[in-house]
Amino acid sequence: MSDLSELYQETILDHNKKPRNFRPMPEADLHAEGFNPLCGDQIQIFVKAKGDMVEDVSFQGSGCAISKASGSLMTDSIKGKTRGEIEAIFGKFHEMVTGEPHAEPPEGLGKLAVFSGVCEFPSRVKCATLAWHTLKAALERKGEPVTTEKEDE
Ligand code: ZN
Repeated sequence: MSDLSELYQETILDHNKKPRNFRPMPEADLHAEGFNPLCGDQIQIFVKAKGDMVEDVSFQGSGCAISKASGSLMTDSIKGKTRGEIEAIFGKFHEMVTGEPHAEPPEGLGKLAVFSGVCEFPSRVKCATLAWHTLKAALERKGEPVTTEKEDE
């Protein structure tokens, strides 16, 4: 195992153990729930929006280390961003976890690059994207719970 993937794995384990922004948000404007039936992950995303910007975001849920670390790192990286910026980040993230393995971590993703190894484990892709699909549903004000079943094909 390379030093880089070891570092990535440590970061994921750290965020799983001590997830950031892991709390309910009673004052949230937007909220959505997501499920990943393949792995049993579930997540709730809370968003406080200010115009086009995500002023604050938090999550709760239970699931595997990847799904939890993904919620933690996602909420950390989108706070203060606009919807357009968030869509762009998700686009890159999605490409990273569903695409071919990269020799170099993709640019512009910051800490989210720790999930770059997920593309080698197709069954874990949905764990890594669950938080994102759920966030998208919250931002689009969809009332129905999200499931990853039909995404990422
Ligand atoms: Zn999972």
